[in-house]
Amino acid sequence: MSIFDIFKKIKSGFTQEKETLKDKPIDQNYLDQLEELLITSDFGVEITQKIIEEINKNIGGSVKTIRDAEFVIRNILLSVLESVEKPLYLKGSPFVIMVVGINGSGKTTTIGKLASLYSERGKNVLLVAADTFRAAAIEQLQEWAKKSSCDILALQTKADPAAVAYDGVHKAIAKNYDVVLIDTAGRLHTQKHLMEEVKKIKRSIAKLGNYPQEILLVLDSTIGQNALVQAKEFNNALGVSGIVLTKLDSTSKGGIIFAISQELKIPIRYIGMGEKIEDLRAFVARDFIESLLD
Ligand code: GDP
Repeated sequence: MSIFDIFKKIKSGFTQEKETLKDKPIDQNYLDQLEELLITSDFGVEITQKIIEEINKNIGGSVKTIRDAEFVIRNILLSVLESVEKPLYLKGSPFVIMVVGINGSGKTTTIGKLASLYSERGKNVLLVAADTFRAAAIEQLQEWAKKSSCDILALQTKADPAAVAYDGVHKAIAKNYDVVLIDTAGRLHTQKHLMEEVKKIKRSIAKLGNYPQEILLVLDSTIGQNALVQAKEFNNALGVSGIVLTKLDSTSKGGIIFAISQELKIPIRYIGMGEKIEDLRAFVARDFIESLLD
């Protein structure tokens, strides 16, 4: 079940007739199911309580049917997500995006999708393989570079990641690239090592000017609450300026997008809706919520 099915699931428990579904009166059973689904889908306690209280307060008055309840849900969810709907504008050249995230989050795939998106817009994109810890990471990035027809700077494994990132940005300045996407490690010997390494990369490219303009954190939505924990950790270490939430096509735990937004207020730049190159969407709060409550 994906996050986009959870509200359909509640409704389908009430009647099979789709037409009249939204006119069904709500009752305690509906509220109990709603509360349970919001919690198990990782919307977080605060947002869940807010929704349930708001419905309870108006039940029998302005809230009689599923349609009325969804109106309340829509407004509350929209107010949370609209505050983090801030698209990424590529201002300045080269625009340097340092991409961070734990292994398996979809970081490399996201870099490939972004490379393809920006190339299609006519940007000259340079990929930089600064995850030198894993040989496979460099190879994977080389494949994405080929797929999206972008250049790549990759040195041998075990090269100093901060030096590779520095060389990449240096090259982009010298050769007039528009966008630089820096891949970074997603796992080292310890989490502390990892945070030290990404901090060092940030410091090294800052020596070349006002870079990076964006520190983009890739988070796997299927891990629910752990995504929030990761977001806090990277944000404390680096100051994250944007988030990409991946795998929203394959989890009912995607409610974490609300908990993260509510708590950290970091802009959500894109969402990943599949494995293919075209499956990255710019994040639009209203569209997201309409898909949820469709
Ligand atoms: P990395 O270790 O963070 O670089 O992660 P990868 O980019 O290698 O992705 C890990 C797995 O997640 C791969 O199998 C990807 O195809 C898959 N993946 C990445 N993004 C998405 C997404 O938005 N939806 C789905 N369903 N799978 C994704």
